[in-house]
Amino acid sequence: MSLAFATIRQLKEKLKNKEISPKELLDYFIKRFEKYDPKIGSALEVFNTDSILEKSNKNGSLYAIPGLIKDNICQKDRITSCGSKILENFRATYDATVIETLKAEGAFLVGRANMDEFAMGTSNEYVAFKKVVNPWDNSRVPGGSSGGSAAAVAAGLVPWALGSETGGSVRLPSAFCNLVGLKPTYGRVSRYGLIAYCSSFDQIGVFARNVYDNALIFSLISGQDRRDSTSLNVPKKDYTQNLDGELKPGLTIGIIEDALDAKGMDSEVKELVNNAIKEYEKMGVKIKRVKFPTLDYSLSVYAILTRAEAASNLARFDGVRYGFRDKGAKTLAQMYSKTRQNGFGAEVRLRIMVGNYVLSTGHAEDFYVNAHKVRQLMVKQAKELFSDVDLLLLPTQVMSAFKFGTFTDPLHMDLQDYCTAFVNIIGVPAISIPCGFTKNNLPVGLQLVGPHLSEDLIFQTAYAYEQNMPWHTMHPKELD
Ligand code: GLN
Repeated sequence: MSLAFATIRQLKEKLKNKEISPKELLDYFIKRFEKYDPKIGSALEVFNTDSILEKSNKNGSLYAIPGLIKDNICQKDRITSCGSKILENFRATYDATVIETLKAEGAFLVGRANMDEFAMGTSNEYVAFKKVVNPWDNSRVPGGSSGGSAAAVAAGLVPWALGSETGGSVRLPSAFCNLVGLKPTYGRVSRYGLIAYCSSFDQIGVFARNVYDNALIFSLISGQDRRDSTSLNVPKKDYTQNLDGELKPGLTIGIIEDALDAKGMDSEVKELVNNAIKEYEKMGVKIKRVKFPTLDYSLSVYAILTRAEAASNLARFDGVRYGFRDKGAKTLAQMYSKTRQNGFGAEVRLRIMVGNYVLSTGHAEDFYVNAHKVRQLMVKQAKELFSDVDLLLLPTQVMSAFKFGTFTDPLHMDLQDYCTAFVNIIGVPAISIPCGFTKNNLPVGLQLVGPHLSEDLIFQTAYAYEQNMPWHTMHPKELD
């Protein structure tokens, strides 16, 4: 077995049996970064080994297990750039709650993952520093916005990584890279120390190569945090306990027909997801075809609300408080505008402008207020669906990983979020798991979506399928 693609459980076993020391394990993975990452581009920075060893607790349950952190999650005294020039040299003054927890659990946090600037993107092409390629095919995108986190796990540079989700940024790259990606219930994981994009949608999510590892990391980082006022008062839980390959008796899964038959849905993706549905049926799951009538509005609602919240969240980057300041300006107003003009990339500026427009006097009623109303309608429809079925199943993506430069128009790029964004709008949990490969050997993912706080059921249902399938054992050949 190659260490590179070992599971967290296997690595823990090796450490326990002293087949390998924590330092050797770390050196092994750092060497893989040195060897493969110049081409893949998953990390904006890999930390020096001594500083990694120093910061993790030897008695933690995750001691010596390396992971990569998306660069919008604050790691104390490290740069946290959010993938943006405006924060290129910004050092975090505190640890995000998830980082505090992971250090206490002993994890080796090896670096900062590359990402679309301010987590705005679907392909990882809206990057300020360098591109990330898909380890399955270097001419294709890894998916975004947490593309660095995904590429690193898929390439066997780390066994797990953290990303963030606003509209699919963990699930979509997971599907593009053959990974298991979880978007938790809104409020289940603390957002304290996660640089905000759209606060009413944002959640930190987990990447791993199998369901068990994902559940393991999620069990550690979930739970209430007084420093995040939206954090739910729900006790911590061990999500690996239910993973025995059994399904919930009488499990009913709803298939969202609107998604499978969506305009632009790739026929190979559809076929692979249909195969998975048949597999679940064979396993005894009751399948029900359902409709989610407001699904078609989700991208408009998403576009309006995320731009609006982003415009106000990003107002704080003004050259005074954080990061980059343009020194060429003569007046204060000029300093603000030059700093933002030169510090933010084009996509971020576009979203801020659209956000200010939809919030402006005379337009807010049409856009912002109406989008909220549709959001409420979607929440209501989802509740009705979940009174009828336990989980929903649909593809994660409308097509497999595409080539760089495929979408030059941001509006077309946004259509890639069709299967994922509604989940963030309604605030429920969802997982993407591998469900096969296209003829071009590109991974495809399916999604299981559940009601609030149903992560347990989601993991259990995903695990049972995974155990019957070979997909999660497959890795990009030349990296093995
Ligand atoms: N593609 C979506 C966007 O660009 C999702 C981003 C995310 O989940 N952070 O907004």
